[in-house]
Amino acid sequence: MKIGESFPDYYQCLSLEFGANYDKIKEHFRQLAKVYHPDNPITGSKIHFQKILKAYQILTSERDRGIYDYAYTNFLENSARNNISQSRSIKTESSNTEKSKNHRSESYLKMIPPSRVVFAHNVTEYAKKGLMRKGYRMKDRTKWTGIDYDVEIKVLESETKEILRANIPLTVRILCPDCYGSDIHCSACGGGGSYKSFRNLCVDLIPNRWKNGQTIDLELSKYRPDKLTYFKKKKIKIRLSVLSVDSKSL
Ligand SMILES: [Zn+2]
Repeated sequence: MKIGESFPDYYQCLSLEFGANYDKIKEHFRQLAKVYHPDNPITGSKIHFQKILKAYQILTSERDRGIYDYAYTNFLENSARNNISQSRSIKTESSNTEKSKNHRSESYLKMIPPSRVVFAHNVTEYAKKGLMRKGYRMKDRTKWTGIDYDVEIKVLESETKEILRANIPLTVRILCPDCYGSDIHCSACGGGGSYKSFRNLCVDLIPNRWKNGQTIDLELSKYRPDKLTYFKKKKIKIRLSVLSVDSKSL
């Protein structure tokens, strides 16, 4: 199986060699964009333009490219190894693509279902232990429960060899784009200046770079999706756990 059949080849899409540098990527994108832009009455193509735009966005994002390059080289190695069982692997790949479409994800990433992204600071659990009473702070609760992380990502043993993506829904404040929070008579935000909302924090796990029980600290200010959005929390501590096959906590 060749790359590109079931795996998106962003390098080929922009007529690039694997490992091309930023300038080359930009140059090729610009040339192709002129050809495929929907405004071009002769050669314009919305579908083609979206494809090259996607390739450009992935290859020029440090984070996305790191994941993509890892998957790319892995894919080449695997397909060389599995050349004999061609038809079967194509089938598996395409069904994976189908599944991940709903999550607007790349086909080489496996989504961890939301049921396995679990918030540790469960208010109901605290209430049962009497830790929601006035005067108790998060520090005290941590001491009593022994839980010092915010979210746990539960991974199945069979998934540890794959590139995994988890979405962590977090509370955000979005500054009013009409008044930037400066007009108490603003009709868009009613004078509140901002809105409460939710945004998914996207966490990608690369095989062999993490282990069971590991915690990751993320400074959320670095993950803001845009300049108007602020995460309510400053930091988040994520714990990674591998579930054994017979686990009943699913
Ligand atoms: Zn406003």
